[in-house]
Amino acid sequence: IPTIGVLALQGDVREHRAALEASGATTVAVRRPDELAAVDGLVLPGGESTTIDKLLRIFELDEPLQARIADGLPVYGSCAGMILLADRVLGGTHDQQTLGGLHATVRRNAFGRQVDSFEADLPFAHLDGGPVHAVFIRAPWIEDVGDDVDVLARIPGDYPEPVAGKIVAVRQGSLLATSFHPEISGDRRVHEHFVQIVKES
Ligand code: GLN
Repeated sequence: IPTIGVLALQGDVREHRAALEASGATTVAVRRPDELAAVDGLVLPGGESTTIDKLLRIFELDEPLQARIADGLPVYGSCAGMILLADRVLGGTHDQQTLGGLHATVRRNAFGRQVDSFEADLPFAHLDGGPVHAVFIRAPWIEDVGDDVDVLARIPGDYPEPVAGKIVAVRQGSLLATSFHPEISGDRRVHEHFVQIVKES
């Protein structure tokens, strides 16, 4: 049984732990470098990416985490977590940094006022059982990806421009990222997919 950490500096840690445990993993909260060193995979939860970025540096987790990502640690970033994983962020604060590793550019708070927060049923590549029910909360989208990034989900084409077709879930090797929050929808398939990535790595 893999041990999966959930970064527990800010955000909806409890919901991710519950979803991961329901998907066959043991979980631990990660706040210190020694806790990070003991996990087989890590979830970066949603929250506020600028705050989590600052706390990562205050807790001296930024460099150990970048080193483990470079070393192939499976990481799943949801919403703010996706921003933290991306190599580049648009719409960030002037001093906002990311951990990086995911060859992508994300746009923070991308959806704007009309669809600030919304739910959608999204076709999701490689997952059986039909569309994934996705909850977006002041979510980012992905503006562009590198050649080695597999696009897993996009906003459906019947949404208004410029939202239609935007990339909202990707995988690059053992890195997984979604703009939305599967931990609060009751649909466990994204967490099950990540647990499988951890087991295979
Ligand atoms: N808007 C937040 C940010 O920029 C992300 C929101 C979320 O994680 N639900 O960090």
